[in-house]
Amino acid sequence: MITKVLIANRGEIALRVLRACKELGIATVAVHSTADADAMHVRLADESVCIGPPPSRDSYLNIHQIVAACEITGADAVHPGYGFLSENAKFAEILDAHGITFIGPTAEHIRLMGDKITAKKTAVELGIPVVPGSDGEVKPENAMEIARKIGFPVLIKATAGGGGRGMKVAKTPADLEEAVSTARSEALAAFGNDAVYMEKYLGKPRHIEVQVVGDGAGNAIHLGERDCSLQRRHQKVWEEANSPALNVEQRMKIGQICADAMKKMKYRGAGTVEFLYEDGEFYFIEMNTRLQVEHPITEAITGIDLVHEQIRVASGAGLSVTQEEIEFSGHAIECRINAEDPRTFVPSPGTITHFHAPGGLGVRVDSGAYQGYKIPPYYDSLIGKLIVHGRTRVECMMRLRRVLDEFVIDGIKTTLPLFQELISNQDIANGDYDIHWLENYLAKTSV
Ligand code: ADP
Repeated sequence: MITKVLIANRGEIALRVLRACKELGIATVAVHSTADADAMHVRLADESVCIGPPPSRDSYLNIHQIVAACEITGADAVHPGYGFLSENAKFAEILDAHGITFIGPTAEHIRLMGDKITAKKTAVELGIPVVPGSDGEVKPENAMEIARKIGFPVLIKATAGGGGRGMKVAKTPADLEEAVSTARSEALAAFGNDAVYMEKYLGKPRHIEVQVVGDGAGNAIHLGERDCSLQRRHQKVWEEANSPALNVEQRMKIGQICADAMKKMKYRGAGTVEFLYEDGEFYFIEMNTRLQVEHPITEAITGIDLVHEQIRVASGAGLSVTQEEIEFSGHAIECRINAEDPRTFVPSPGTITHFHAPGGLGVRVDSGAYQGYKIPPYYDSLIGKLIVHGRTRVECMMRLRRVLDEFVIDGIKTTLPLFQELISNQDIANGDYDIHWLENYLAKTSV
């Protein structure tokens, strides 16, 4: 039984988790830095603890302070949200040692998926299709032999990778030596580890990811996929469920492959298996062992509260639904509203002078922002997520157009105008885009 959850996060996701706890009758503890004393998640929680100064490493990443906050308040579980400590195996172990439930997978599974080469090997063993590539680390001296076997173009990627750093394309044999050495030095600078591996470079894939939840005892389900191809610098901007590129058979087939893999692993908690998708084929790239930012679109089309499920499986209560009971209904789109210039994407912290969130059927706004809220400059620039659901993709898009007109955020710059452009674009209307579409569009239309 979980009776009191400490939410080790901030912003919209802290609020999201808090809402689920309230619905389940579980007491909540918010933690916050001094910069977030006025934040909505702090106001709405039953209790709150200040855990340090603004920089994340001194507050939201400070394991010692978070464990102390659990002990002071008597919290018996921690929900890590996404980012910060959500994929930190050591954090999960420390909580375990203190008898506090980590609402997430085992430390072992976090580690397994945290290293790209091990994750890929595991995926192969579990029957998940992967991108053709090297069997493990690639050294400069055997790079050419491996690249010729895979076939050009190839992509050099950092083993410790994240956020698209330490990644270099070699289009032809002539580019290879430089690509390997640049990727290695970038990886060393970013992750303190220069190990790289190699994959076939896919020219125009979509990013399609499958949501899974496991009970840790060998039962697992999938909740369909999300298409997150609209990205800028590997950051997702607009996500849809279902993917406009898949039909029902393809959806159920890849979903079942992922659910079966989670059963074999005895995976516990929510997870996302990420793929590149090109010419009808799926290629595993990584698995995230946490809740994703874009999880609400899956909730919209399935009616299942993923945070409820996370809490259930963490407390040993099992899943609330079977695969057969899950019904996929309609279409959902999420727009990430960032406090950024909609063209240059330069962050725009400051005070929100006027805030009006849209409403109506099929509309969900997950945000900790309010009129008078001062966005601190220390954290990521996501200030809210707009999620719209409709019976069909066309209805969803019509609704989104109306809702974008209604949304008012004054006093700072936001990415809302970008979504107003996208909703009127013919390629977007047709669902005809790949992972490069948005960057090409921005390059073409920038002034
Ligand atoms: P990271 O952890 O650094 O984000 P990923 O493996 O998740 O690395 O890849 C990030 C992005 O890089 C993908 O969403 C895709 O846009 C691109 N990418 C990764 N692997 C390939 C590949 N083999 N071919 C083409 N693009 C790729």
